Amino acid sequence: MAYSYDEKNIFAMILRGEIPNKTVIETAHTLAFEDIQPQAPVHMLVIPKGAYVTYDDFAARASDAEILDFTRTLAKICEMTGVSADAGDGCRFISNAGTHGMQEVPHMHVHLLAGRPLGRLLD
Ligand code: C5P
Repeated sequence: MAYSYDEKNIFAMILRGEIPNKTVIETAHTLAFEDIQPQAPVHMLVIPKGAYVTYDDFAARASDAEILDFTRTLAKICEMTGVSADAGDGCRFISNAGTHGMQEVPHMHVHLLAGRPLGRLLD
Protein backbone atom coordinates (compact mmCIF):
# COMPACT_ATOMS: atom_id res chain seq x y z
CA MET A 1 0.00 0.00 0.00
CA ALA A 2 1.49 3.34 -0.99
CA TYR A 3 -0.77 6.16 -0.01
CA SER A 4 0.80 9.59 -0.11
CA TYR A 5 -0.37 11.84 2.74
CA ASP A 6 -0.96 15.55 2.09
CA GLU A 7 0.16 17.43 5.22
CA LYS A 8 -1.82 20.47 4.04
CA ASN A 9 -5.25 18.80 4.24
CA ILE A 10 -7.78 20.52 6.48
CA PHE A 11 -7.90 17.79 9.14
CA ALA A 12 -4.11 17.89 9.44
CA MET A 13 -4.50 21.63 10.02
CA ILE A 14 -7.14 20.97 12.70
CA LEU A 15 -4.81 18.45 14.39
CA ARG A 16 -1.99 21.02 14.38
CA GLY A 17 -4.36 23.59 15.95
CA GLU A 18 -4.14 25.87 12.90
CA ILE A 19 -7.91 26.04 12.45
CA PRO A 20 -10.62 25.67 15.11
CA ASN A 21 -12.98 22.76 15.61
CA LYS A 22 -15.77 21.84 17.98
CA THR A 23 -14.14 18.96 19.82
CA VAL A 24 -16.39 16.25 21.22
CA ILE A 25 -13.68 14.05 22.68
CA GLU A 26 -9.91 13.80 22.40
CA THR A 27 -7.77 10.84 23.40
CA ALA A 28 -4.11 9.91 22.97
CA HIS A 29 -4.59 8.81 19.34
CA THR A 30 -8.02 10.05 18.29
CA LEU A 31 -9.98 13.28 17.86
CA ALA A 32 -13.74 13.60 17.37
CA PHE A 33 -15.40 16.86 16.44
CA GLU A 34 -18.68 18.23 15.08
CA ASP A 35 -18.99 18.29 11.29
CA ILE A 36 -19.09 21.88 10.08
CA GLN A 37 -21.99 21.09 7.72
CA PRO A 38 -24.12 18.59 9.63
CA GLN A 39 -26.30 16.27 7.57
CA ALA A 40 -28.23 14.97 10.59
CA PRO A 41 -28.99 16.14 14.17
CA VAL A 42 -25.88 14.23 15.24
CA HIS A 43 -22.99 14.48 12.76
CA MET A 44 -19.50 14.03 14.08
CA LEU A 45 -16.19 13.16 12.49
CA VAL A 46 -13.82 10.79 14.20
CA ILE A 47 -10.20 10.91 13.03
CA PRO A 48 -6.96 9.26 14.04
CA LYS A 49 -4.19 11.69 15.00
CA GLY A 50 -1.76 9.78 12.81
CA ALA A 51 -1.24 10.54 9.11
CA TYR A 52 -3.53 8.06 7.32
CA VAL A 53 -5.39 8.79 4.10
CA THR A 54 -8.25 6.26 4.17
CA TYR A 55 -9.70 3.60 6.43
CA ASP A 56 -7.78 0.82 4.69
CA ASP A 57 -4.54 2.83 4.99
CA PHE A 58 -5.24 3.22 8.72
CA ALA A 59 -6.16 -0.46 9.15
CA ALA A 60 -2.97 -1.54 7.37
CA ARG A 61 -0.42 0.76 8.99
CA ALA A 62 -1.69 1.98 12.37
CA SER A 63 -0.43 0.39 15.56
CA ASP A 64 -2.67 -1.85 17.65
CA ALA A 65 -2.84 0.93 20.24
CA GLU A 66 -4.09 3.46 17.67
CA ILE A 67 -6.69 1.07 16.27
CA LEU A 68 -7.93 0.11 19.72
CA ASP A 69 -8.08 3.73 20.80
CA PHE A 70 -10.00 4.69 17.66
CA THR A 71 -12.59 1.92 17.91
CA ARG A 72 -13.11 2.38 21.65
CA THR A 73 -13.51 6.14 21.11
CA LEU A 74 -16.28 5.43 18.59
CA ALA A 75 -17.99 3.29 21.21
CA LYS A 76 -17.54 5.98 23.86
CA ILE A 77 -19.14 8.61 21.60
CA CYS A 78 -22.12 6.32 20.95
CA GLU A 79 -22.49 5.91 24.69
CA MET A 80 -22.09 9.65 25.39
CA THR A 81 -24.62 10.69 22.77
CA GLY A 82 -27.05 7.82 23.38
CA VAL A 83 -27.19 6.83 19.72
CA SER A 84 -26.17 3.19 19.90
CA ALA A 85 -28.70 0.73 18.50
CA ASP A 86 -28.55 -0.97 21.89
CA ALA A 87 -29.66 1.99 24.01
CA GLY A 88 -31.11 4.36 21.39
CA ASP A 89 -32.41 4.60 17.84
CA GLY A 90 -29.16 3.69 16.14
CA CYS A 91 -26.73 5.49 13.90
CA ARG A 92 -24.58 5.14 10.81
CA PHE A 93 -20.81 5.12 10.38
CA ILE A 94 -19.46 6.14 6.98
CA SER A 95 -15.86 6.35 5.81
CA ASN A 96 -15.51 7.74 2.30
CA ALA A 97 -12.37 6.81 0.39
CA GLY A 98 -10.95 8.16 -2.83
CA THR A 99 -12.63 9.42 -5.97
CA HIS A 100 -15.56 7.02 -6.26
CA GLY A 101 -16.07 7.22 -2.49
CA MET A 102 -16.36 11.02 -2.90
CA GLN A 103 -13.76 11.65 -0.21
CA GLU A 104 -13.22 15.39 0.15
CA VAL A 105 -10.62 15.48 2.90
CA PRO A 106 -7.68 13.07 2.42
CA HIS A 107 -7.22 12.27 6.10
CA MET A 108 -8.93 9.11 7.32
CA HIS A 109 -12.24 9.89 9.01
CA VAL A 110 -15.44 8.20 10.05
CA HIS A 111 -18.70 10.14 9.93
CA LEU A 112 -21.09 9.33 12.77
CA LEU A 113 -24.64 10.24 11.74
CA ALA A 114 -27.71 9.87 13.94
CA GLY A 115 -30.81 11.57 15.24
CA ARG A 116 -33.13 10.92 12.29
CA PRO A 117 -33.99 8.02 9.99
CA LEU A 118 -31.07 7.96 7.54
CA GLY A 119 -32.63 6.15 4.58
CA ARG A 120 -31.29 3.14 2.76
CA LEU A 121 -27.78 3.38 1.37
CA LEU A 122 -28.01 0.50 -1.07
CA ASP A 123 -30.94 -0.72 -3.16
O1 C5P B 1 -15.99 12.19 3.73
P1 C5P B 1 -15.67 13.54 3.16
O2 C5P B 1 -14.20 13.76 2.94
O3 C5P B 1 -16.47 13.84 1.92
O4 C5P B 1 -16.19 14.56 4.25
C1 C5P B 1 -15.47 15.63 4.75
C2 C5P B 1 -16.32 16.28 5.81
O5 C5P B 1 -15.54 17.21 6.50
C3 C5P B 1 -17.57 17.02 5.29
O6 C5P B 1 -18.73 16.47 5.89
C4 C5P B 1 -17.33 18.46 5.75
O7 C5P B 1 -18.51 19.12 6.14
C5 C5P B 1 -16.37 18.26 6.92
N1 C5P B 1 -15.52 19.41 7.26
C6 C5P B 1 -15.52 19.88 8.57
N2 C5P B 1 -14.71 20.91 8.92
C7 C5P B 1 -13.94 21.49 8.02
C8 C5P B 1 -13.90 21.02 6.69
C9 C5P B 1 -14.70 19.96 6.34
O8 C5P B 1 -16.26 19.37 9.42
N3 C5P B 1 -13.19 22.53 8.38
